[in-house]
Amino acid sequence: MLFQSTRDSGLAVTSAQAIVKGLSAEGGLFVPEGFPAVTAEEIGSMAEQTYTQRAQTVLSRYLTDYTAQELHDCVEKAYAVERFGKDPAPLKTVGEDHVLELWHGPTHAFKDMALQILPHLMVNAIRKTGMDKKVFILVATSGDTGKAALEGFRDVEGTMVGVYFPRDGVSPAQKAQMLTQEGGNVHVCAVEGNFDDTQTGVKRLFADASLAAYMEEHGKSLSSANSINWGRLVPQIAYYFSAYADLIKQGYISLGEKVNFCVPTGNFGNILAGYYAMRMGLPVGRLICASNKNNILTDFITGGCYDTNRAFYKTASPSMDILISSNLERLLFELSGRDDKLLRSWMAALKTDGKYTVPQSTLALLQQNFSCGWASETQARDAIAACYRAYGYTLDPHTAVGYAVAQQYKQTTGDKTPMVVVSTASPYKFGREVLCALKGEDFAAPLDEFTCADALEQVCGLPMPKTLRELRLKPILHTDACDPQGMLGVARRWGE
Ligand SMILES: *Cc1c(COP(=O)(O)O)cnc(C)c1O
Repeated sequence: MLFQSTRDSGLAVTSAQAIVKGLSAEGGLFVPEGFPAVTAEEIGSMAEQTYTQRAQTVLSRYLTDYTAQELHDCVEKAYAVERFGKDPAPLKTVGEDHVLELWHGPTHAFKDMALQILPHLMVNAIRKTGMDKKVFILVATSGDTGKAALEGFRDVEGTMVGVYFPRDGVSPAQKAQMLTQEGGNVHVCAVEGNFDDTQTGVKRLFADASLAAYMEEHGKSLSSANSINWGRLVPQIAYYFSAYADLIKQGYISLGEKVNFCVPTGNFGNILAGYYAMRMGLPVGRLICASNKNNILTDFITGGCYDTNRAFYKTASPSMDILISSNLERLLFELSGRDDKLLRSWMAALKTDGKYTVPQSTLALLQQNFSCGWASETQARDAIAACYRAYGYTLDPHTAVGYAVAQQYKQTTGDKTPMVVVSTASPYKFGREVLCALKGEDFAAPLDEFTCADALEQVCGLPMPKTLRELRLKPILHTDACDPQGMLGVARRWGE
């Protein structure tokens, strides 16, 4: 299996090359040249398998330049019991829906599903490609990716990580997680600006030839651990298969029956993995793209115009406060019939005018598989309260957006297909917001962040993860800060 770029379909690189590079030289994203099939029989036999076995099957279809033994080692190390507990991606039943919990990894957000394995894929890729430099991973984060990348790559031989986060755009727990990060190869910098400023800044660093030359002189090669990296996307496909296999195992569906997935979406990586799973043969009914008040994707999926010329809102689900959803480019590449010229023109328009419009035919293809919706801040809070009241189940603010949109979708369509809501974070990463939803603002107002989390534990009874409880005891280790223009200088200093 070889990989093309969304902006150069003539390219053909191996998965190891795609993973080491992160982003293609002309600015496009690496995509597989096709979608390998997983047969119904194979899906059926996954019901009796462990998560690591399921993941290995999916990875092996795309990472054909890795041996079975290499992939086995990667999944076993990444999803080990010490890191994820006994089930890395448990499927819970909540009322008439199912919730796929993807936050049992070390940083308690779904990013761990990919970022715990990416370093192992990367180390193998470095060896396979004969890369003789240190791979310097630069990351822009809306909160969860940064911590997950730091934790995944910390002290991994041959790599180093630099994380930029929007100073006022992440939750206090997320900020504390990053600023207290340990490890000899990690850097963290607060950027004055929002996530889009930060992400655009990092993309600019990747496109900067002088920085690449500077790093080269210093024995380093830049790469990405954002969801633009193929190695981030491919492990995420596995949990869609896993959820389906668990639905069979738990007796909710029989093999071949369709399932809907509702995904709280920001950069479109998670839901895109669901689309790839479907293209590989997973029986998926609808993929429902759930947004918060930054509902640019709702408008796009409804009308075909992607327009970033709009207000940016800071919400209680910061990892979804995104106006430029990078992975949409990969979907559009497929929907346009792999037309790299068209993709270049849309992405150029996005850069110059902040918007592009896809033709009716592309929109129709998009709507064949995707539905969409959004939840206001009040609706998301109400969903947390209602779900807890009805089922004793506590949602984090991101999952609450997905849950609210799933209920809207069922009400408006009457669709009775089994629904899996993809759950992306532990409620304790957003303790104040969840406590406000359950007990009211007046209750939470006098409490500091850590007391909020303690109070939440008393109220909802879900055990708080130990690493989040211990956060308050850790010293701040990182103090770098800059404005978006200063990001280059910071990267050079890190790369010395
Ligand atoms: C990253 C993130 C999302 C958005 O996922 P995308 O792949 O960017 O669409 C949603 N919820 C949480 C908690 C996240 O960390």
